[in-house]
Amino acid sequence: MNNHPRIMFRLAALATFLPLLLVAKVPEEARLRAASEALLQTPLSVPNLHILSEYVRNSDNPPALRSRAMAAYAMALLLQGNTNNFVRAQQAHRAAYPDDAQLIPLTAEHYSVPCDACNGTGRREKAVCPQCFGRGSQFQLSPLVAQTYQKRLGEIVAQCRENAEYAEKFREATKTSHDDKQIEMLQALTNSYPHRTDLAPAIALLDDALAKREVRLRAAQEQEERRRIEREAAALKVLAQGPDRPRAIRELRTYLAAHPNVAPALELQAVLDELVAKEEQQQRLKKIGIGLAVLTGCLFLISVIRFFSFSRRTSSSSGPLPGMDKIDKADFTDPLSLTAQDTLTRAKYKTARIPREEAGVED
Ligand SMILES: [Zn+2]
Repeated sequence: MNNHPRIMFRLAALATFLPLLLVAKVPEEARLRAASEALLQTPLSVPNLHILSEYVRNSDNPPALRSRAMAAYAMALLLQGNTNNFVRAQQAHRAAYPDDAQLIPLTAEHYSVPCDACNGTGRREKAVCPQCFGRGSQFQLSPLVAQTYQKRLGEIVAQCRENAEYAEKFREATKTSHDDKQIEMLQALTNSYPHRTDLAPAIALLDDALAKREVRLRAAQEQEERRRIEREAAALKVLAQGPDRPRAIRELRTYLAAHPNVAPALELQAVLDELVAKEEQQQRLKKIGIGLAVLTGCLFLISVIRFFSFSRRTSSSSGPLPGMDKIDKADFTDPLSLTAQDTLTRAKYKTARIPREEAGVED
C-alpha cells in the first residue's frame, strides 16, 4: 500500500515513454528486416546494403542487431571482392563488439589461395608474377563466406521478427486494463522470451499489475469481512430482541470475546449491557418473590407448629402440676367466684382471703 504512489509514477512514465520507444525503433527494425530479407534473395543489392550501413551508423540501435548488421555488411564487401575494405570493416567490428568476433569467422584463407603461377612467391622468372601482381595469392572466395553472410542475415530477420512480436504483445499487455488478464499476458510474455535482455519494463509492469491485483483482492476481502461482521451483528441484535435472553447474553459475550475490535463492538457491548441489566433486574425480582414465598411458607409453618404444640400442652396439663396436691386448697379462692363485695373487701384488708366475719355478716 505504501509504495502505491511510486507504482503509479512508474506506470505513468512507462505509458508515456514506451510508445515513443516502440514507435522510434520498430520502423527502423522493420526496414532492416525488409532489407535483410531482400539481401537473402539478392545478396549484393546496393539500396538494401545501404539500409544495413545506415542501421549500423545509429548507435542507439540494439547492440545484437547492430553487430550482426555490421558483420553482414563487412561480408557483403568481401563478396564484392573488396578485400581491403572487408579487412577494415572486420577490424572495426572486432573493436566495437569484441565478444562478437565469431560473427565474422573469416581469415585470409577464406578469400585467397596461393597463386598457381608463382606458387605463392609473387615472382616468376625473375619478375613480378603477372597473374597475382606479386601478391603471391589470388582472390578466391570460400563457400563459408556466402554461408556466413546468409546466416547473419537470417539472424537479423529472426531477431527483428521476434522484436516486433514481443513489442506487439507488450503493447497489447499495456493496453489491457483488467489486471488478471494483464498478469496472464505479461507472465506468458516473460516466459516466452526468457533470453531477452529488455524484459525489465515487462517485469516492472507485471509487478505493478500483481500489486494492483493484491490491493484489489485485499479491498474485496475487507469489504466481504465488513459485510460478514454486519450480518453477524444484525443476527445478534435480532437474538437480543428475542425471548431467550440468557442465550443472547451468552452469544454476545462469546462474540465480543472473539472479536473485540470489530466496528459494531461498542454497539453490541451496549446491547449486552442492557440485556445483562434487564436479566439482573429479573433475577432480583425473582429472588424477592422467592423470599416472600419462603417467608409466607415459614409463617404458615410456624402457625402450624404452634397449633400442634398448643393442643399438646392442653392435653398434658390436664393433671395437677407437681406439688399442687399438697397445697391447702382452702387458702385459695377462685377469683371468678367472688362477688363485687368480696373483691372490695379483699382490697380493703389487703388479703387474698375472703374475710369470714364480713362474709358471714353479708350472709
Ligand atoms: Zn603469382
